[in-house]
Amino acid sequence: MMSFEAARERLLRDVPRLPTERVSLEAALGRVLAEPLVAEAPIPPFSYSAMDGYVLATRDLEGTGPWLLPVRGESRTGRPSSPLAPKTACVISTGAEVPAGADAVLPREIVEASGDAIRFDGKVRPGQHIRQAGEDLAVGAVALEVGTRLGAPALGLAASLDVTVLGVARRPRVTILCTGDELRAPGSAKVPGKIPDSISQPLAALAGMAGATVRKQPPVGDERDVTERAVREALVDTDLLLTVGGVSVGEHDWVRPALEAEGVVLDFWKVSIKPGKPIAFGRQPGGGAAVLGLPGNPASALITFSLFGMPLLRAMQGDRAPLPSLVTLPLAERLTHKPGRLEFVRVALEPREGRLSVVPFENQASGALTSLAWASGLALVPGEVEELPAGSLVEVLRLQDL
Ligand code: AMP
Ligand code: MG
Repeated sequence: MMSFEAARERLLRDVPRLPTERVSLEAALGRVLAEPLVAEAPIPPFSYSAMDGYVLATRDLEGTGPWLLPVRGESRTGRPSSPLAPKTACVISTGAEVPAGADAVLPREIVEASGDAIRFDGKVRPGQHIRQAGEDLAVGAVALEVGTRLGAPALGLAASLDVTVLGVARRPRVTILCTGDELRAPGSAKVPGKIPDSISQPLAALAGMAGATVRKQPPVGDERDVTERAVREALVDTDLLLTVGGVSVGEHDWVRPALEAEGVVLDFWKVSIKPGKPIAFGRQPGGGAAVLGLPGNPASALITFSLFGMPLLRAMQGDRAPLPSLVTLPLAERLTHKPGRLEFVRVALEPREGRLSVVPFENQASGALTSLAWASGLALVPGEVEELPAGSLVEVLRLQDL
């Protein structure tokens, strides 16, 4: 059985990159940049005032204050400014261009205006309250590197560079194929012995969060030939096939043979984690689809997809940080653990004595969706641990960071 670290290393090694496509800013949120965003103009594009007030030239201030300067003209936002007349000040608004010859702004609050002149005192530094052209980004500088997952502020940065179309990785195409004679569609008529498929929908949602487009195949029963046919169809026009269930060693588990019949080479099919030991990963040779064979228990399926599938989808898009970051937080209470596999314990994160603390849920069964639906994180409990006293620090994967 492979360790979690080894399995993830295998999963993320030599991941084929998806081709680049161009999308508008409206469609770019969450996508991964495939071409660098380079500043073709400086940011800010011209030097402007950071305050409402008066702009002047410090070389006009002789000796020590207080000083008196006549006020001539105004620099307003959205209009080019005229050069500053010698030994004068000019009214200026926040965001307005600093006139040629001026080098300092006095906030309105610190000057005394009387008639057409201002009086002021104190230190006036060259450059004060002025945002210089190019001080945030110089021409030619890289604003966003290849492999950046675009958040909302990145879209603003592109907009401020007048860039409205970005080169990003194509969305990975995910196909979901559930298996099991017991499955019926959620909301369909109740049939004895059947259960609603509770995995397709959340799996599609998680894949979408990782940037994928999703196709859901009709679930298949536990027979060899239908499973093989369904797997063959599901592999068409797919970058990542997710099978659900039928991947362990039961008598009616046909997923592994069906994948192998399609030439999929499995890298691993058992990982030493809890939940989710039976998880298979492989690829079609010759740059075809990647395949994740997820366990059928709902909590196991969603946790293993979060741990393996989402990073894989991000890596396919060239994301420089495909793995979610972990935080270290104290346990609110004692935790006992059966030594063996690395366990991902479903936990709430609650403030206790002024610190965000880890509160494990009672029901950690592989099939229990309740505790996963209520959880805000997964606490990593290493395989060798038997007991952790309250207050012990544990690593936590916050579900918001997935
Ligand atoms: P399997 O991995 O096929 O042995 O399934 C393990 C458990 O997960 C069984 O109790 C199945 O009924 C259940 N299961 C499998 N697929 C689904 C699904 N799509 N929705 C809900 N439960 C499932
Ligand atoms: Mg099954």
